[in-house]
Amino acid sequence: MSDPSATPMMQQYRELKARDPDALLLFRMGDFYEMFGDDAERAAPLLGLALTTRDKDKADAVPMAGFPHPALESYLARIVQAGLRAAVCEQVEDARFARGLVKRDVVRVVTPGTLTDDDLLDPRTANYLAAVVEVSGKIGLAWVELSTGRFSLTGLLRSELIDEIARLNPAEVLISELSLDAPWVRLLRGQPVGPVTVRPSWDFQPEQSRQTLFDQFGTTTLAGFGLDDRAPEVQAAGALMAYLRETQKTALPHITRLTPFRRGETLALDEMSRRSLELVRTLREGKRDGSLLSVIDCTATPMGARLLSDWLTSPLTSPEAIGERLDAVEELLAQSVLRGDLRTMLNQSNDLERLAARVGTGRATPRDLAALARTLALLPKIKARLTARVSRRLNQLEASLELCPEIRAEIEAALVDDPPLAVKEGGLIREGYHPELDELRAAARGGKSWIARFQAEQVRRTGIPSLKVGYNKVFGYYIEITHAQAQARGSSIPSDYVRKQTVKNAERYITPELKEYEDKVTRAEERANELEYELYSTLRDRVSAEAPRLIQAGGVLAQLDVLSALAELAARHGYCRPEIVAEPVFHVEAGRHPVLDALLPPGDFVPNNVRLGPGPDPDEGTILLITGPNMAGKSTYIRQVALMAILAQIGSFVPARRARIGIVDRLFARVGATDELSRGQSTFMVEMTETANILNNATPKSLVILDEIGRGTSTFDGISLAWAITEHIHDALGCRTLFATHYHELVELEKTKARLRNANVAVRESEGEIVFLHRIVPGGADQSYGIHVARLAGVPAPVLERAREILRFLEKQHGPDPGAPASSDPGTSPSTDAPIRRKVKTGRALAGSLFAALPEPILDELRQVDPEALSPEQAIELVKRLRELAG
Ligand code: ADP
Repeated sequence: MSDPSATPMMQQYRELKARDPDALLLFRMGDFYEMFGDDAERAAPLLGLALTTRDKDKADAVPMAGFPHPALESYLARIVQAGLRAAVCEQVEDARFARGLVKRDVVRVVTPGTLTDDDLLDPRTANYLAAVVEVSGKIGLAWVELSTGRFSLTGLLRSELIDEIARLNPAEVLISELSLDAPWVRLLRGQPVGPVTVRPSWDFQPEQSRQTLFDQFGTTTLAGFGLDDRAPEVQAAGALMAYLRETQKTALPHITRLTPFRRGETLALDEMSRRSLELVRTLREGKRDGSLLSVIDCTATPMGARLLSDWLTSPLTSPEAIGERLDAVEELLAQSVLRGDLRTMLNQSNDLERLAARVGTGRATPRDLAALARTLALLPKIKARLTARVSRRLNQLEASLELCPEIRAEIEAALVDDPPLAVKEGGLIREGYHPELDELRAAARGGKSWIARFQAEQVRRTGIPSLKVGYNKVFGYYIEITHAQAQARGSSIPSDYVRKQTVKNAERYITPELKEYEDKVTRAEERANELEYELYSTLRDRVSAEAPRLIQAGGVLAQLDVLSALAELAARHGYCRPEIVAEPVFHVEAGRHPVLDALLPPGDFVPNNVRLGPGPDPDEGTILLITGPNMAGKSTYIRQVALMAILAQIGSFVPARRARIGIVDRLFARVGATDELSRGQSTFMVEMTETANILNNATPKSLVILDEIGRGTSTFDGISLAWAITEHIHDALGCRTLFATHYHELVELEKTKARLRNANVAVRESEGEIVFLHRIVPGGADQSYGIHVARLAGVPAPVLERAREILRFLEKQHGPDPGAPASSDPGTSPSTDAPIRRKVKTGRALAGSLFAALPEPILDELRQVDPEALSPEQAIELVKRLRELAG
């Protein structure tokens, strides 16, 4: 790497760059961070920096771009947002004392998955770093949030990886260099997650990765965490830890535990269902606003907001665990004063988890420590409010809330009330904390009276009353005499005055006595600042050793926050406590869609009942087939069922008057067209893949919601598939299912399928206008309102007129719309033995007539005629028929 022609500094640069060639090296030079070469060329356009060259005149001029050092954090934010890594290189010795080239080193590597700084993180969103490894066909997955120290892992099948990644939504994923060509890596790269970072295979090796973890946790086995040391996920976890060590360059005392994630204990949601239900972000824009999370999030702290998001992405499946949360929510709902008090205190507390993690990574500022102490000061009050509660969970939280009084006392004793951000410029440590510091400060301060005395003495000596002693950073202390005074009669400049500087109206002098004094003061100040820094570092290290306890306290606050926020949610929107049972039922009275209900003016949302699964009425079905016009509210209805199941299983109350919900083990939601096309697959292919996933994986305890399956193909295919899929769900799976469709033909299924019920959305029609009542009522829909809806949507009048004409024609040709009068016209409805036969006709008629023949049906008939083969009688017959057709 050394290049004889390069300057020593450029050699130093290249050496540092070679250590981590992928990261942008931010090279500190004085007050600037500079990038060179390829880095400069890559980063300049991205960061909006001017690209210049170093050593312009030489042949081997190097491209260069830089920014002033105070802007570091904002540029780091942009670098990681762009999915890049940055290595921050500082001058690690004081340039004043350096002999020759000042020493530099990389002090931290900032990557999207390893952020800890508040400025770079969204306080309400977890920022996960994940690692994936494949060992003999099995996948090991580990993930950590450096900013809170949470570290989890799980083993998976290859086919399960993407669903888990979708749940975690990591900011960065590590893979081994050996996995580069694995098919799952391609899938991973297709996900909307952060960058995939390739790491040495060594980090993932079994012995190496185990050793890294043993070192971190001070153990010789991982059995204490409930882990098998040889599990693939342990290798992923070891590689994660190695990466953290390498990028953070500090001990990480706040990472104290590995938590195995047991997926069987949570409601399984595949990636597509998760996205289409818009649990934590919207489908189209990927924003938090408009998601279920955004409307149910009443938390008072960022810790609570993150935990709620966590709960929402992993609903529980154990009735006991859910019941425990519900009990706590119920108690906090009933005790509104208690809830108010707790929320007020939580509101005042800072992000204890992230503060503790910053302490742990050695990056806490004095302000962080002060915030920590202020939050610790709230804990005794919170604990006191939690004593003697009824619900088990609140009692547990009370018991496990550690107050950490000695940490608080230490910080309060050492730091001033409102400390500065900088650690090396003094002003951090309280008076009276350390005798030597107090003395040094007195020496520095004592100066004021000394200067006053000195100034009076000089006025007397020179006879110049306006003589002043001043101070500036460049020259230090000086005596200032205006030109006018110097020339005035009776004044004289003493011989020990040394002229130092001439300014506009005055001369500035120093004397040996003044300089000697200055040295003393400066030395005292410098020494005081150094001592303050030492005292601060000691304090920070002591607090750092307690990081695990602080994180634990933060975890308690987070839970308390989520439980009181769920109670607050129930109070604000009139939610009810769901009765959670084991049998597969879903009985809801006056249920609402949580998001739409919150967005509409109060009372505008039309509540609906849902009855699925065995109930008091033996006639209850498990499949509900909802037919009806577009825009009537079908999707809203079926989505609200899925969202209520999820809310209930995270331990939340639900938007309904009454709810009895049987535990759902897996939830499949296939709703609405999405952006699949951009992923290079046809809509229909994706839809069928997802349907296959449902048919292959649903159990009798699952909940399936399907919206308009079969839309992406011809009508004939679509109806046949929808029909067969519904039959299969009914006959073979028997799980709770809601199916919204505009294929009216399917209503016939009710006749043969014992557990299938038809429903439709009530619509009022008057004078050609239709009003959607959004009320779900029993029975199949009886008209297609497509043209009316098109008019509402602003489709031009001539097109609508033409559509009506075509519809009239179709009805004349084939009888009325098959979906519509099925019940009033049993003669033409499909025989249930041969359901498809009539659909064939309908399908062909729709496709053929609409797109080809319809504009000129007479022509079509004519085209089919073979004039040579016609007898005269047949010819006369044909003319008659054509006349009839022409009306
Ligand atoms: P569909 O799936 O039948 O095409 P949607 O469920 O998308 O219809 O609903 C269309 C619109 O109707 C929604 O955007 C919403 O504004 C409104 N809507 C649906 N259900 C209700 C309801 N229960 N109460 C009030 N408005 C509703």
